[in-house]
Amino acid sequence: MQTQNDVVLIGAGIMSTTLGVIMQKLMPGAKISIYEKLESVAAESSDSWNNAGTGHSAFCELNYTPKQADGSVSISKALDIASSFEISRQFWAYLKEQKVLTELFIKTVPHMSFLWGEDNISFLKKRHETMTPYALFEDMKYSEDFDEIASWVPMMMKNRDRNKRMGVTRMVAGTDVDFEAITRDMIAHLKNCDGVEVHAGQEVKGFKRQADGSWKVKLKDLKTGKSNVVHSKFVFVGSGGGSLPLLQKSGIKEGKGYGGFPVSGKFMRCKDPEIIEQHRAKVYGKAAEGSPPMSMPHLDERRIDGEDSLLFGPYAGMSLKFLKTGSIFDLPGSIRLHNIWPMLSVARHEFGLIKYLVGQVMQSTKERFKTLKIYFPEAQMKNWELYTAGQRVQIMKKDKKKGGVLKLGTEIINNEEGSFAALLGASPGASTAVSIMFNVLNKCFPEQMATDDWKNKLTEMIPSYGKSLIDDQQLCRDTRKATAKVLGLDE
Ligand SMILES: Cc1cc2nc3c(=O)[nH]c(=O)nc-3n(C[C@H](O)[C@H](O)[C@H](O)COP(=O)(O)OP(=O)(O)OC[C@H]3O[C@@H](n4cnc5c(N)ncnc54)[C@H](O)[C@@H]3O)c2cc1C
Repeated sequence: MQTQNDVVLIGAGIMSTTLGVIMQKLMPGAKISIYEKLESVAAESSDSWNNAGTGHSAFCELNYTPKQADGSVSISKALDIASSFEISRQFWAYLKEQKVLTELFIKTVPHMSFLWGEDNISFLKKRHETMTPYALFEDMKYSEDFDEIASWVPMMMKNRDRNKRMGVTRMVAGTDVDFEAITRDMIAHLKNCDGVEVHAGQEVKGFKRQADGSWKVKLKDLKTGKSNVVHSKFVFVGSGGGSLPLLQKSGIKEGKGYGGFPVSGKFMRCKDPEIIEQHRAKVYGKAAEGSPPMSMPHLDERRIDGEDSLLFGPYAGMSLKFLKTGSIFDLPGSIRLHNIWPMLSVARHEFGLIKYLVGQVMQSTKERFKTLKIYFPEAQMKNWELYTAGQRVQIMKKDKKKGGVLKLGTEIINNEEGSFAALLGASPGASTAVSIMFNVLNKCFPEQMATDDWKNKLTEMIPSYGKSLIDDQQLCRDTRKATAKVLGLDE
């Protein structure tokens, strides 16, 4: 007798796990199974050391506010990301009140942008002027005053030329988030829910669509080597870098034309308490010309498992693997007739990206250290170690005009009936997991999402559900204040 599921979630990172918690609440008693190929959960991109832990709220990340041809600054993406992060905060606050989240997983760390050069400074000033009319950003401070900046980030200002003009913004309400801790707690909660099963060491190998619209999911037990099959009415592929190959195996027509290019991230890490003590912020600079936005240099305060550290990076690395624990055949194995042209077109148009990646890979440790010294002039090599963080798979997509384009956000690909969905891409990632999962539900369960039953349950989890935190300024202030109180954050 084969197992019948209502929902199968593939991968035990923050995405599938968030969806699992929401769906269990919406459909109590439903049979939900999570399959994870590794023995532990949150061990790929959601692992604390594999990402930067920035609660992405567009306070400091300059790639979310591009400069327009007329000199204005577009903030629509920033508004979207900031309000999505507020939704995540509400969900985590709800889970904390429900005693699902028990570990220390979030702390206040001011978010700053740090720029020099006349063009950059005028951009930052304009960005600040455009953002601060919104409650989401109204507490953002702008400064060009050396001493004021030094009071915010003393370590970065030591041994720096006072006469070199710089522009800095600072948002006190920024956060550092341990996405692994959140995932671990959500998995522990799910394991105690009726109807939910979490299976580790089980790799999903493929799918077969059934005549009634449901899915046969093919599994391999990695300990015994045995194959197995389960059935499900709905399948969500939240397998991080492993999502593209599984999307291809589903055979859904909506997945055609997608390709992926793996880029690994490296960070420099410092664990010296005396140095950490001098830097209480996440400071983001500007990505180098031609480089992808996820390459913005940043010097970050982190707290993982109660221990403080500093990170600087990311530096890009090249790898053929889609997951840190993947195989060198991942990239070549993902090439299909339908995605080869989009991938080649991206290679042709995005020459700057390729140049950047090659440059990054060729860098020596000394050269990497030079970049750190731009942000922390007194840094000493002996206090920093280089390590490899998580793997990202940049999405490439078929495009009528260009042949293929690089997609920089996340993308949900689902079939028309809404019985299968996969999540590709990584940015802004874990911070906006809750809004991304709402999008999955809107795409795949539109009728149920319109019912009072689901709306009431969603409002219980997200008090601002259905309302705009961008347009309703007072609601935004009240929401941030309420979640700050529950999560123990500065407002
Ligand atoms: C260097 C770096 C820095 C980042 N910094 C930030 C940041 O500061 N802030 C932020 O919000 N986001 C950040 N991100 C993005 C964030 O880490 C990801 O968006 C998020 O962790 C993705 O979660 P996920 O659940 O989709 O994937 P993952 O956490 O990678 O989980 C996917 C899971 O699926 C499993 N899996 C894969 N294939 C299969 C299969 N066939 N069968 C069964 N299981 C399978 C994997 O083993 C894995 O456990 C960063 C990412 C990187 C790489």
